[in-house]
Amino acid sequence: MQNIDAVVAGAGIWGCTVARRLAESGRRVLVVERREAIGGNVRCETDPETGIEIHLYGSHIFHTHIPEVWDFVNRFVKFNGYQHKVLARYKGKTYFLPLGLALVNKFFGTELSPGEVEAFMKDETHSAAVFDAFFRGYTSKQWGRPPEEIDPSIIKRVPVRSNYDVNYFNDYNQGIPLSGYNSLFERLLDHPSITVRTGVELRFEDGVFFAGGDSLGNVPVYYSGPLDVLFGYRFGHLPWRSLRFETEWLDMRDYQGTSVVNYTEAEVPYTRIHEFKHYHPENAAAMATAKTVIMREYPSDWRPGDEPYYPIDNESSRALLGRYREEAAKYTNLVVGGRLGGYKYYDMDRSIEAALALSL
Ligand SMILES: Cc1cc2nc3c(=O)[nH]c(=O)nc-3n(C[C@H](O)[C@H](O)[C@H](O)COP(=O)(O)OP(=O)(O)OC[C@H]3O[C@@H](n4cnc5c(N)ncnc54)[C@H](O)[C@@H]3O)c2cc1C
Repeated sequence: MQNIDAVVAGAGIWGCTVARRLAESGRRVLVVERREAIGGNVRCETDPETGIEIHLYGSHIFHTHIPEVWDFVNRFVKFNGYQHKVLARYKGKTYFLPLGLALVNKFFGTELSPGEVEAFMKDETHSAAVFDAFFRGYTSKQWGRPPEEIDPSIIKRVPVRSNYDVNYFNDYNQGIPLSGYNSLFERLLDHPSITVRTGVELRFEDGVFFAGGDSLGNVPVYYSGPLDVLFGYRFGHLPWRSLRFETEWLDMRDYQGTSVVNYTEAEVPYTRIHEFKHYHPENAAAMATAKTVIMREYPSDWRPGDEPYYPIDNESSRALLGRYREEAAKYTNLVVGGRLGGYKYYDMDRSIEAALALSL
């Protein structure tokens, strides 16, 4: 391909960061994105009527303690300082997660002090009750396994906060882009040396990489799609867990008073309800509108063709991934990354960190 020094496949956070770095180091970059829009799974849509930013693939909160990542994203967008809190609904009552003084004292009707809660939670009866209420049903829905099969010992690995800090993440840098997530991607790709083509898939056929109909020759390719798809599933399908989202527009100002509520009982078919207006408390008009947008999240089995969300980590998937990685290593012009390419759950900051660490 003429006039191009590198091709980036996938305009998610990993691909856009790689493309920006390549362009800033003097390379002419072609970004191809299989979907019709950039942003990967962080893509949002602003509801024209209410101005509410809807996260199309589930809630995304930017959070990081990595200074290089925070500095990098702040070159492109400013954040609104939103601090994420998650509530849990269990048997008609609402609790603050994570596991800490607020949850424990409400659940048990106690008034434990910071010095008492850890020892209290070491008691098997207490930890089993918390596990049954908040972890067993939720985890079973998340991974599609019967509640009785969920290993109760996971509660032992859940840290107990001995304070009333209900901030969901420990990272001190948090927020949502003031100008919306899509603007982050638009600005990352807004460089004279970057060309973007959406609705174009990178493919690999008979030892040759193609973007659209064009053969790429030996141009370096930075690929953030799944390895099994690239290699035509020749060793089999890498398994995933999927999600289904149901969005609803409601004629009320506020549905649940917060951005995310987890539904922890196995009998409730969804795991979470997202209410997007709460991510932008600074957007007074959207906050005040008499409408709101909520989204129910349903975990689902994954079949080829479904949207892949969470990799299934087990012995056979690790072996399969190893075979695909060996195959990928044969092509010296191919660099694979991102959550799909890595077959690994990465938060956004970790995807950016990995893209910043590449030697380009
Ligand atoms: C439900 C859920 C909630 C999350 N919430 C958070 C959160 O609150 N905070 C946080 O930090 N992280 C969160 N994450 C993680 C976040 O989504 C990822 O870190 C981020 O999407 C990773 O970006 P990526 O570029 O690796 O992948 P993606 O965003 O998936 O981008 C990859 C892109 O490559 C494209 N592509 C694939 N194959 C090809 C091909 N052959 N040719 C061209 N294009 C191709 C895809 O269409 C896609 O656009 C969440 C993840 C999930 C599943």
